[in-house]
Amino acid sequence: MDYRNSVGSIDHSYFKSQISKLEKNLNIASKPKLVILGAGESGVGTAILGLQKGFEVFVSDQSVIKDKYKQKLIENQVDFEEGQHDEVRILNADVVMKSPGIPDKALLIKKLREKGIPVVSEIEFAFPYTQANLIGITGSNGKTTTTMLLYHILKKAGLNVAEGGNIGESFAGLVAQNQPDYYVLELSSFQLDGIVKFAPYIGIITNITPDHLDRYEYKFENYIASKFRITLNQTESDYLIYDADDEVITDWLNKNKTRARLVPFSIKKKLEYGAFKENNEVKIITDNNTFTMSIASFAVQGNHNVKNTMAASLAATLLRVRKETIRESMEDFEGAPHRLEKVLSIRGVQFINDSKATNINSVYYALDSMTQPTVWIVGGEDKGNDYMELMPLVREKVKAIVCLGLDNRKIIETYQNVMPVIVETQGAEEAVKVAFKLAEKGDVVLLSPACASFDLFKNYEDRGNQFKEAVLKL
Ligand code: ADP
Repeated sequence: MDYRNSVGSIDHSYFKSQISKLEKNLNIASKPKLVILGAGESGVGTAILGLQKGFEVFVSDQSVIKDKYKQKLIENQVDFEEGQHDEVRILNADVVMKSPGIPDKALLIKKLREKGIPVVSEIEFAFPYTQANLIGITGSNGKTTTTMLLYHILKKAGLNVAEGGNIGESFAGLVAQNQPDYYVLELSSFQLDGIVKFAPYIGIITNITPDHLDRYEYKFENYIASKFRITLNQTESDYLIYDADDEVITDWLNKNKTRARLVPFSIKKKLEYGAFKENNEVKIITDNNTFTMSIASFAVQGNHNVKNTMAASLAATLLRVRKETIRESMEDFEGAPHRLEKVLSIRGVQFINDSKATNINSVYYALDSMTQPTVWIVGGEDKGNDYMELMPLVREKVKAIVCLGLDNRKIIETYQNVMPVIVETQGAEEAVKVAFKLAEKGDVVLLSPACASFDLFKNYEDRGNQFKEAVLKL
């Protein structure tokens, strides 16, 4: 069913009928029972929205709940438990919101499904309660950057817009607080796994490369299918923006159907519709606007960011933002921390923090965008990397490798024959000091680890922050 009129605004009566159907389905005598598994950002956001919408809410977290979230639950008088799951109560729910960290194969989830109790994600739960235009952004890399870019453009255009989902505040939490006209939502595959009706007006798939396979039975096709759920409920009046250079995406589109209007972008080929790169310019062509932007003027550089810029600019163009505003936004965008973030230049050595690069694909783009000899800090908790994929770039750009991880064997084995210097370190400060010694004026020291951070750090932000602090101390 198409619930939007010709300019993409949402027909509210659709949602009213959905909510009343949902309520009938739930066979409500009194209040419908909403159980929330996991008391993190999405869990607490859903709890507050659930209360507001008349559900009886119970939050259950098997671990200890972080103080910040416990405080919010108490303030809002939400009934909750921690360190356990009250199965009897949970299996008596009318609907369950599962936090993205809980895998489908968890026994409790299986039991819920066997009983026929709907298990949804926070984006599905919140979907019927807003009339705003939704822009959903998914992909293996570039989600956060593209989300932040688009939010920046729409803000600059003076629109009433909120940003959230897998970044910052949960969608449910935002819907409980305010009613903007637009939501720019970063969406993970886990969030998309838990949708039934959720449909963005504009969906964006930045790229698809293997990631999180442990949650998808080690089958890449399952992960691909999960990403494409973003278009599952889109209609002919919606748009799907995608990377036309990505064969995984184009293959899926050749073999499967989507009702959305397709809007491709490419840095390799000229397109008649969408966005492409030509002579150091990005050209945008849609039904309502055609314009070019000089790549040199973009605040964030590198081919991967050209792609992110194309995706965000296409979405903004479809939302009828003026080309001058889009151009200006690309010039004054501040970039996301820990993503090719320039830290400082010390005695002619530029330090770059790309701690968020936790897989091979993102390091590929990081190395590709290096224009000076690079001392590369790499390593951490390996998620099954094939370092050979980076070999041509390493040979071309890297002058020395500094390993930053507990177990660096794979990195050393792969590069020892091509790299004159490989040094092992086990802390940010040591890595930075060693890298600075190895670097000369005109070089770059790049932290782009290709690995998760949990062997030595709390998370990738902690790794990036410790790196930055160590640079400032030099
Ligand atoms: P995500 O939110 O999908 O993890 P981010 O925008 O946080 O993506 O970027 C994660 C990492 O991937 C960073 O190291 C960044 O430099 C790199 N990256 C960003 N955009 C892309 C892209 N389009 N393709 C490949 N790598 C990218």
